[in-house]
Amino acid sequence: SIIVGNMRGPDGDTPSLLSFDDVLGLFHEFGHILHHSLTRAHYASLSGTNTEWDFVEMPSQTFEEMAYEPSILEAISGHYLDRTKKFPENLINNIIASKDVDIGIIHTKRYIISVMDIASYTIPGPVNVTDLYNQNYTEMLGIPPISGSHEATTIDHFMGGYDAGYYSYLWSKVYALNALAVFEQKGTSDATTGNRYRQWILEPGNSKDGMDLLIGFLGKEPGLNALYSYLHLTPPGKKR
Ligand SMILES: [Zn+2]
Repeated sequence: SIIVGNMRGPDGDTPSLLSFDDVLGLFHEFGHILHHSLTRAHYASLSGTNTEWDFVEMPSQTFEEMAYEPSILEAISGHYLDRTKKFPENLINNIIASKDVDIGIIHTKRYIISVMDIASYTIPGPVNVTDLYNQNYTEMLGIPPISGSHEATTIDHFMGGYDAGYYSYLWSKVYALNALAVFEQKGTSDATTGNRYRQWILEPGNSKDGMDLLIGFLGKEPGLNALYSYLHLTPPGKKR
């Protein structure tokens, strides 16, 4: 398994330095790589990331979220001229706090794109993607998109192998956040939890139902509360 990335190159004496967005992208793809590389499924067609759409973005997003873990940020950071110089504590705190910037808009847009993706493949006849996107955007976000923009045409997932599967990011995120809660409880570097995650989530591929794998690792069915808490929302029926 390999990751083919589009990272910034070196500039003169300065080596290639990753932005935090690059780091998140790398962690995300590395989650897919772990799913690929550690598979023990008997048949190639059922191995690694050949899972159901509901589950396919789960290992990647679990690993992506781990990039916000202070001990991991500390471990991977280092000044390029002096690797012993790590991120100071206030920078680590600021990176963690930055996760909440626009979190509502980002996830609402993912929802808009998911709905639109499925609509594009289910509406009979030609679809005007800009009109459809603008209509969903205004309805769900409560504000109109920038006039004259055609954001729908920038989303390559629609025809890049994720056709009608974009919803997987949000759907799998619920699973990823449930798994992350277990790691948060036990510690990200806890070997027993890591091995259980490997056995239950990464190794079986599609040789077992994704929900059975989740119940095996979590010890229960995943719930929505982890997503509500991630988005700082109060679950329905609960008082603030
Ligand atoms: Zn992914």
